[in-house]
Amino acid sequence: MGCRRTTDPDSLLRITVGPDGHLRVGRTEPGRGAWLCAGSPACLERATRRGALSRALRRDIPTGDIERLRGRLHGAGFGGDADPKQD
Ligand SMILES: [Zn+2]
Repeated sequence: MGCRRTTDPDSLLRITVGPDGHLRVGRTEPGRGAWLCAGSPACLERATRRGALSRALRRDIPTGDIERLRGRLHGAGFGGDADPKQD
């Protein structure tokens, strides 16, 4: 979504908004999803700067959630189906 460089699902993260209104990461989460390149903070930056993320998910994204997501994208060994729990 952020850059459309790849269509390989293994290199993409699926972002959704949970019932609590917070971002979740995982391919099995229900609801509308947005895809970002795994391990690419730049992809997230592009998506958020253009408002593409909130548009794709059809709701405003809390700033704190963006920060958390950014931290996870920077982190090593982050997989597409990692534990989506917040805190
Ligand atoms: Zn991307």
